[in-house]
Amino acid sequence: MIPQQGSENVTAGRDGDGPIEPLGTVHRGFSSRNRHRFWRLLAKLDRRRLMDVSQRPAVVSLTFDDVPESAASLGAPVLERHGVRGTFYVASGLCGQEDEQWRVASLGQVRDLAAAGHEIGCHTSRHVNVQSLGRDELTRECDVNAERLAQACGVARPTNFAYPFGDLGLRQKWILEERFASCRTIYERLNVGTVDLGLVGAIGLFDRTFDRRRLERLVRDAKMRRAWLVFYTHDVGDAPTGIGTSPRLLDETLTILRDQGVQCSTVAEALAQYRLGGRGT
Ligand SMILES: [Zn+2]
Repeated sequence: MIPQQGSENVTAGRDGDGPIEPLGTVHRGFSSRNRHRFWRLLAKLDRRRLMDVSQRPAVVSLTFDDVPESAASLGAPVLERHGVRGTFYVASGLCGQEDEQWRVASLGQVRDLAAAGHEIGCHTSRHVNVQSLGRDELTRECDVNAERLAQACGVARPTNFAYPFGDLGLRQKWILEERFASCRTIYERLNVGTVDLGLVGAIGLFDRTFDRRRLERLVRDAKMRRAWLVFYTHDVGDAPTGIGTSPRLLDETLTILRDQGVQCSTVAEALAQYRLGGRGT
């Protein structure tokens, strides 16, 4: 089952693993809910892997979570028509499965996305809330996902991660930061100035929430502030879910980016460009 994303009000431990035992006894007496909030708050305050994005003009990355079939069959072609590639965060254990909201892309479709030049990122293997996982379980989730993607799709080991449910705790953030170049949240914000790569902000590109005027305003703001603007969405269709996007809105977004001269790159490409340092205006 694929949960609703787009909110920080998420439920931890959906797989019944229970929360990790925290460090020490500082939380004693906390309810489970408060304990999750506490570790989520510490994760938000933690800033260890920093990168300055102000050195370059604004960059936009289009990302897709869970990868419903429609993201591959209808979304990717829109990007490709504009000469753009996206980042697709895959929980490969769900590939080919039917969900309440959509059917998840098959491993074959993921292979085709990679072959077309799109980036395949990690979203755990089973789409599990990482706050429920200890180090070994979390490492295994990522290992299993990488192995399946390599064997079934010929995909190189993913270098970027998106938190399922948008949820995380401090210890999981540290573990994932060791492994991945970036970890994307669903915290709605532009990435401006010195960015925490373990807590990359993203803005939901949903028909429910965006129209052309808001898009243009956001892109102008990103340009002015030399931001890294990361969009995220799920399904793609003429009547998308509340956390999905129509082909029309995707096309409109890419047209606005082109007209305003804003570069659109996968997450991996954007990070590589930032590492190279500032050029251009
Ligand atoms: Zn997800």
